[in-house]
Amino acid sequence: MLHVKIISMVDRFCCDAICLRVIEFSETSQIVSLFTPDHGIVSMIAKGIRRIPKKTSAPLMAPLDILSAGQVVFIPSRHPGQLATLTAWDVTNHRPELRRNLEKILAGELLAEVTLAAWAAEDASKDVFHQLGKALDELSQSASMRIVVSYLKHLLAAAGYALDFSLCTHCRKPLGDHGNLLRGAAGLFCDRCGVSGRLARADRRVLAALQRLAPPDQLTPHAPGAQPDAGALLQAAQLLICHLRLVLDHDLHFDGYLRDIFQFPAGSALRQVYAHAAG
Ligand SMILES: [Zn+2]
Repeated sequence: MLHVKIISMVDRFCCDAICLRVIEFSETSQIVSLFTPDHGIVSMIAKGIRRIPKKTSAPLMAPLDILSAGQVVFIPSRHPGQLATLTAWDVTNHRPELRRNLEKILAGELLAEVTLAAWAAEDASKDVFHQLGKALDELSQSASMRIVVSYLKHLLAAAGYALDFSLCTHCRKPLGDHGNLLRGAAGLFCDRCGVSGRLARADRRVLAALQRLAPPDQLTPHAPGAQPDAGALLQAAQLLICHLRLVLDHDLHFDGYLRDIFQFPAGSALRQVYAHAAG
């Protein structure tokens, strides 16, 4: 009996995780993709989990929500391409502040989707896991979307897709007034080299700000009254997402709501004016 018990414990992994995707699979089950520091992104089936009411006497198990953090116990798949099996999920942070605000939940979903798109599932990274947790914490607490751009930049570099924000990929001279992304070519090009097939462009001040931008865990708070310009953040995010689309060579469906996230940062006067006009 003891022997059997030891084998079944060894078969399972228990680790911290952030939920990146939830598919309601049947009346009772979910398929979830969880980011873990030691096993990369693991897709697993949580059988019967939707049958458990959210308020239950067994609080260790409740249906999973995207962006929540917790501890997971799972049995890894035996064959590549198969789903692992979730056996326990203990939520440690459901991120309620994030769920109360449309821009924040969209921005959080953007971070989850970009991570799923850019990160190789089997690659473990304590650093990227830590930075994603920091980014979601900051997004919950701050009105600024600068943290989203910071995480995008850091993730792309960690995944091997870093952009050089200072030199032209073709002529190797300083980029000058603009950096351009071109159809069918990776990298940033100056105005002389990037005359045709332009997909996105960022101006000098945005490139300089991107160059300086620290990863999520090293971002210093804004000086009071010095919120970054939402238009510049949007331009930076569009540039990074367009670059990711080019290197992955497939569309990312969140392109369409970047404007919703960046044009009207949560709590901004501009957003209140807009809400008032729309209402
Ligand atoms: Zn050039």
